[in-house]
Amino acid sequence: MFLAGKRALITGSTSGIGLAVARALKAEGAEVVLSGFGEPDAIAALCAELGAIHIDADLSERSGVEALMAGAGAIDILVNNAGMQHVAPIEDFPVDKWDKIIALNLTAAFDSCRLAVPHMKAAGWGRIINVASAHSTTASPFKSAYVSAKHGLAGLTKTLALELATAGTTANCISPGYVWTPLVQNQIPDTMKARGMTREQVIEQVMLVRQPTKSFVQPEDIGAMAVFLCRKEAANITGSNISMDGGWTAE
Ligand code: NAD
Repeated sequence: MFLAGKRALITGSTSGIGLAVARALKAEGAEVVLSGFGEPDAIAALCAELGAIHIDADLSERSGVEALMAGAGAIDILVNNAGMQHVAPIEDFPVDKWDKIIALNLTAAFDSCRLAVPHMKAAGWGRIINVASAHSTTASPFKSAYVSAKHGLAGLTKTLALELATAGTTANCISPGYVWTPLVQNQIPDTMKARGMTREQVIEQVMLVRQPTKSFVQPEDIGAMAVFLCRKEAANITGSNISMDGGWTAE
């Protein structure tokens, strides 16, 4: 329970990776603040499970991030995880989707860090963990906004690492490849239909085609990495972009 007395805010923690990170930090004693969308009953159940509070805010708006940070109080561990995707060729890319993806996947992290850092500096300890992606260092066609935002998030993280280097506060990215979340699982039936493929073909030929281990990252693996980054042994891991992508970015 080495995180007892620390307060962690995890954005996008009502499902998938964010929820797994919240559970992992809670298991080490952190007090957890949840954010993200979902059914009220499901969110209430998560709050009960984790002894957490949930703050309802749309983080694609600056006012939403500011409301979240005001409601969350002094945060020791900030995990920027909320994100969204849209896939389209550049000439057809809806400009409102570009704006929203940049706002949620990049600008929200700038604003949450801007507002969280004063307490971390004053406390002399802090952890900033940004959930980026294999797309923070590589590209795929038709994902211009997502790739741009994730590359930007990696740059923001390196900058913060340097600014906070003597303040007891680290800033790192965790960059997953394909993670076995409900979001990914729910894409399988539609892709089977659209491409006339079996479930196995969708997984092997569409999803894991760029992941050399041919296996999905598990959300709990990312939770475990987030916990490690909070340990004192990780005090000199800062400005890193930690790949958890089955070798995708080694190619
Ligand atoms: P998910 O869809 O399961 O979870 C996204 C979370 O963000 C949810 O809690 C959702 O409510 C919240 N959210 C979405 N829009 C929001 C908004 N406007 N304001 C506030 N909250 C909002 O997704 P996931 O698969 O767990 O992905 C989490 C992060 O991991 C994202 O940043 C994603 O880019 C990144 N990632 C995921 C994968 C993957 O394969 N699943 C791979 C690489 C990177």
